[in-house]
Amino acid sequence: MIPQLIEQARKIVIKVGSNTLADATGHINHRFLEDFASQVAELQKKGKQVVLVSSGARIAGLSAMDKWARKRDIHYKQALCAVGQVELMQAWRNAFAPHGIHIGQLLLTADDFRDDLRTLNMRNTLFTLVDEGVIPIINENDSVCVDEIKIGDNDNLAALSAILWSADLLILFSDIDGVYDKNPKEHQDAQLITEVRNIQQLRDRISIGETNGFGTGGIGTKLEAAEKVLHYGIPMILAHGGKPRALEQLAAGTQQGTAFLAG
Ligand code: ADP
Repeated sequence: MIPQLIEQARKIVIKVGSNTLADATGHINHRFLEDFASQVAELQKKGKQVVLVSSGARIAGLSAMDKWARKRDIHYKQALCAVGQVELMQAWRNAFAPHGIHIGQLLLTADDFRDDLRTLNMRNTLFTLVDEGVIPIINENDSVCVDEIKIGDNDNLAALSAILWSADLLILFSDIDGVYDKNPKEHQDAQLITEVRNIQQLRDRISIGETNGFGTGGIGTKLEAAEKVLHYGIPMILAHGGKPRALEQLAAGTQQGTAFLAG
């Protein structure tokens, strides 16, 4: 099913989670970014359009300002994201540059999706960037966010972005192959669920464990994202982004994942 979904989609939103972007030492994994960018470049050559949603500002910020690691103060946290966002974009820019691809940054908040005029502007900007072959890279604008205007996790942000852009497919890249009946990090016998048509039934069937490492949303927000996009008829794939050539392997059917499909 996953190869067909990728084959049939022209407009694809891909979200890369923090755990995928970071290496074992907690720094931005530049090798991953380069590998990923070259696969996106290949997709573009095949006539597909890609919008990225990238986490990782905090991780990139910590690499630059390690003495802020223990600061709990909200202003420091937001300042850290302001520093990290620049580092993150620099890393993405370096990854796409060898392919002659420009990137464009969009920093959004929940408020932006509630306001008709802003929504229209965001939509037009996305269409223009993509039409010109630029890869838009979306992240939450953490430096201006207080709880009231926070989306809170990039899974839901990616879903809202996919709906806004009228995407054909949403791919969430995480550090697990998909949804399991229980947390695969805690249970070795956890079973991968490869196809989901009813999210509520899935919720009743699986147990949701803690998130780990740098993750924020965990599997719960990934299910919320699936619910959101499926409501608009957009299918979703959850897969391991850290495996070599993950996008290509998924398209070829040689890597597993969970496909969320309309019921
Ligand atoms: P990301 O940073 O990629 O968004 P998160 O850490 O937020 O990832 O969420 C993915 C994590 O959710 C996995 O690494 C896994 O440990 C955890 N998890 C908990 N329960 C489940 C489950 N039933 N199936 C899959 N993953 C689960």
